[in-house]
Amino acid sequence: MNLAERDHNVIWHPYTQMKTAALPVPIVRGEGALLFSEDGTSYVDAVASWWVNLHGHAHPYIAQKVTEQLNTLEHVIFAGFTHPAAVTFAERLLQILPQGQSRIFYSDNGSTAVEVALKMAIQYWNNFGTPKKKIIAFRDSYHGDTFGAMSVSARSAFTVPFWSYLFEVQFIDVPTPGNEEESVKQLETCALAGDVAAFIYEPLVLGTAGMVMYTPEVLDRLIEICRQHDILTIADEVMTGFGRTGRTFATDYLQQKPDMVCLSKGLTGGTMALGATSCSEKVYEAFLHDDKGKTLFHGHSYTANPVACAAGLASMDLLLQEETQESINRIVQRHAAFAASIKNLPQVLEVRQQGTILAVEFEDGATSYFSDLRDTLYSFGLEKGVILRPLGNIIYVIPPYCITDQQLDQVYQAIVGMQEIVTGKRH
Ligand code: PLP
Repeated sequence: MNLAERDHNVIWHPYTQMKTAALPVPIVRGEGALLFSEDGTSYVDAVASWWVNLHGHAHPYIAQKVTEQLNTLEHVIFAGFTHPAAVTFAERLLQILPQGQSRIFYSDNGSTAVEVALKMAIQYWNNFGTPKKKIIAFRDSYHGDTFGAMSVSARSAFTVPFWSYLFEVQFIDVPTPGNEEESVKQLETCALAGDVAAFIYEPLVLGTAGMVMYTPEVLDRLIEICRQHDILTIADEVMTGFGRTGRTFATDYLQQKPDMVCLSKGLTGGTMALGATSCSEKVYEAFLHDDKGKTLFHGHSYTANPVACAAGLASMDLLLQEETQESINRIVQRHAAFAASIKNLPQVLEVRQQGTILAVEFEDGATSYFSDLRDTLYSFGLEKGVILRPLGNIIYVIPPYCITDQQLDQVYQAIVGMQEIVTGKRH
């Protein structure tokens, strides 16, 4: 039996209909932006392995720092104890995080970073003795798969079985161009009705919704309304953090700063599972009390795992190097040139770009999440040696920053090939 067959006997994969899905591609090695399968075939990882990888696979510097940490201290209980990697990483995160963030609460992934922020927001008001019940979120948002994160995410086909178990959320439209006033009006109406604990949003780019983009100016307006009505704001930078949007955080494009920021994915450069929720001193202070009942009772066995924190520190060293910043700028410029070249092709409805994130939307109905055409496009990418996972009728690129020009060209050519399949020019 080969690896894929052995996998099929014992493993249940995420988001996968195990009855009909093709056998998974067995990957045995990675280097830079490339992944290598068992038979030696290479694939350009154009989606950075679920948007996590920043500096390429099996990066020697991160591997060295992780190994050193593993040989020194692999884990320690994080209540009543601390360790250098957690403290240094928190100090350095606070140096680069948007202004106003002053504390780091560690967890394990993006969903838990969101759960922690929601719990902080709800308990913040409870601790003052003025509980507020409602949360506001964007209608098409995605914040994770745990129950709290699912509650504030769009009610999609993926969450149907759980709908009756999710808490109630006030959804407002995403303020995409043309829909800005409507979105602002909806938020104002919710705010005026009162009883709103927090507004959670993916800043500038809604990833899972299909790389849906909107401007910093309108987000500034939404946050300003929240400030006026004493509503806490939570920026979910799980996807957008660490250079993805062209700046260190999407929030760096804004005048208005959030009360909390959720981090994961690029937090360790895509090497170790780690989440973090940062908050302002105002939020933190609401939990300082002689009454122990006002404590934030949340934690995970692996909270602040030293090896994950060491990976995070190493990834941050690399991110802040001039070479990486130049590479980010290079990707931004190359994406822009490609976007201009493809935007008038038949069946291309829209091309969107925010920094290193590029999305090509094919005509409505050209493909859907469950369509055969989506599977055809995905397989076509693999044949061309490129990993591109369509989100419905949207193909997107979010590459590791070390991707070469040649590899980027290979990705762009695969997208042009997909466009030809959609238009029926190629079968
Ligand atoms: N928030 C955003 C904006 C995301 O894009 C994701 C994952 O795609 C999550 C949260 C959940 O992160 P995780 O998959 O690590 O739980």
